[in-house]
Amino acid sequence: MKEYTLGKTGITVPQNAFGALPIQRVSTEEAAHLLRRAYDGGMRFFDTARAYTDSEEKVGIAFEGMRDKVYISSKTMATTKEKFWSDLETSLTLLKTDYLDIYQLHCAARCYGEGDELYECMKEAKKQGKIRHIGITAHKIGVAEDIVKSGLYETLQFPFSYLASDRDIKLVEDTAKAGMGFIAMKGLSGGLLTNSEACMAFMSQYPALPIWGVQRESELDEWLGFFGKEIEMTDDIRNFIENDRKELLGEFCRGCGYCMPCTVDITINQCARMSQMIRRAPSQNWLTEHWQNEMMKIESCIDCGICKTRCPYELDIPNLLKKNLKDYKEILAGKEI
Ligand code: SF4
Ligand code: SF4
Repeated sequence: MKEYTLGKTGITVPQNAFGALPIQRVSTEEAAHLLRRAYDGGMRFFDTARAYTDSEEKVGIAFEGMRDKVYISSKTMATTKEKFWSDLETSLTLLKTDYLDIYQLHCAARCYGEGDELYECMKEAKKQGKIRHIGITAHKIGVAEDIVKSGLYETLQFPFSYLASDRDIKLVEDTAKAGMGFIAMKGLSGGLLTNSEACMAFMSQYPALPIWGVQRESELDEWLGFFGKEIEMTDDIRNFIENDRKELLGEFCRGCGYCMPCTVDITINQCARMSQMIRRAPSQNWLTEHWQNEMMKIESCIDCGICKTRCPYELDIPNLLKKNLKDYKEILAGKEI
């Protein structure tokens, strides 16, 4: 397992880290167990966020008394300085710590710079020792490129998987040239990619720290299984990735949910990618009465367009939903999948 240094932060950890978004969905005991097992298995970097409901609290419980043995990053979606400080204090309290290794502006709509209230708060928090490094997360490539050019941030968190475009790959390389750390979110593209070995082999070629979202013990086992192994990009894996890219590239929904809520309550983050999910997971899970009802809600879409303004990938969501529904109906009618 290679180590990766997050740019000028000097934080050096195994290139195999823990994304603490999914632990919102399990009990505190289960979450603490997963986090401690991740640590025991070799993981040292844990990424959470104020927006992930009780994730910070669970991380705080898991690592109480061993704060100096792990690196913890968190995030704020604050838009005012008051909210920034109240979020930071809440995060520190819940994480049972007096500092964060990296504090990130969460899902930035633009690159906040000198003179911007939020960036000034970041500098002040660093001066006070409450945060060690200033980071930012973005979903839009143009925003991420501006962040790298600005030279103001020590880390950038951005979606990165083997479905990345050449522009995404250049972003990662430019981040390294700028002395910034790159934290790779959505390394499984929101659950679409299921071959962990291919995902890990891809990631190992780049200066990037993947934070794998972990909710189940079996998922954690897969990631921990890479410790003590040489991760290599082999011809077999390269061919697998090439074929998967051919199948998946283009207009596809990553399942992030930023477009929601829908005006008429369509579960966009699942329904807009049903065609892929049904072919990549046990299909009967997606053919239940529940999912049939959810899919039929697409017929009530009023084309208000609100979802489109929120999608970081600028997808034409109403049309994507319609395409998925057409395919779904054909599958229900007996089409081979
Ligand atoms: S365009 Fe359709 S899917 Fe999007 S928010 Fe409006 S009703 Fe919902
Ligand atoms: S449509 Fe866009 S915003 Fe909505 S879940 Fe998919 S990728 Fe995310």
